[in-house]
Amino acid sequence: MGKIFVVGFGPGSEEHMTFRARQAIEQSDLIVGYKTYVDLVRDLIGDREVLRTGMTEEVTRAQAAVEQAKSGRTVAVISSGDAGVYGMAGLIYEVLMEQGWEPGDDPEIEVVPGISAVNAVAALLGAPLMHDFAAISLSDHLTPWEVIARRVEAAAAADFVIALYNPKSGRRTQQIVETQSILLRYRDPETPVGIVKSAYRQRQRVDVTTLEDMLNHEIGMLTTLIIGNSSTREYHGRMVTPRGYQRKYTLTGANERGRLDPMPWALGSTKD
Ligand code: SAH
Repeated sequence: MGKIFVVGFGPGSEEHMTFRARQAIEQSDLIVGYKTYVDLVRDLIGDREVLRTGMTEEVTRAQAAVEQAKSGRTVAVISSGDAGVYGMAGLIYEVLMEQGWEPGDDPEIEVVPGISAVNAVAALLGAPLMHDFAAISLSDHLTPWEVIARRVEAAAAADFVIALYNPKSGRRTQQIVETQSILLRYRDPETPVGIVKSAYRQRQRVDVTTLEDMLNHEIGMLTTLIIGNSSTREYHGRMVTPRGYQRKYTLTGANERGRLDPMPWALGSTKD
């Protein structure tokens, strides 16, 4: 029986790849992926056969992977970050579903989770997620812009911390401009914004700026942005969103066991 591993190899450095992702690549006869990704895990691939495709050829890539696995091979389809977040996992399932595949049929499929850009970027920025957040891809390659704009607006109105994937490319430059203007209708211009390029790769760059000033920073294909919510603070170039219990604890009131004493008005509501 053939097998497809759909592997998220994390942000790019080997240290941030999971053990299972490494095993999956090592156990495969064929590696399928976008060229840049293949290059990132080149050392691990060794002399295994590789099928490299361009970025806009995701469907072809998924179909080829399924065909190869059906012929009895073990195939690793690689994505950066997590393969289930704007990655290849969904497309592989779509191709299989189209063919009437069911669990237990040939080929076997295993999705190997990875550290997504949002996790990598958040770690470099400090602790900006901490509370409810929304991830939005600004790429209108597969999604109409009106849908994306509506989601940006809904997330902005609901005070979610917002992670923006695919913010801008050579040809796609207006989405981030429109996104900023939607956000400014709901958030303070001083809201902290983190901009991280190439997290855990060569030429990594980490900037913390404000909503008002964000467009004056370098933003491109390898960048993820994190827009703070109304409680997010900038602290010496880091970005921190409080855990959300401001009214339930006082940091100066920790007792000797290191536990946080609840504020009087929160007594009896220790759900978490
Ligand atoms: N599956 C990937 C996302 C692919 S979409 C994941 O889970 O991370 C491609 C977008 O991901 C890029 O435009 C960028 O916004 C983000 N991205 C991927 N790797 C990144 C990295 N190392 N640093 C910063 N952003 C990254």
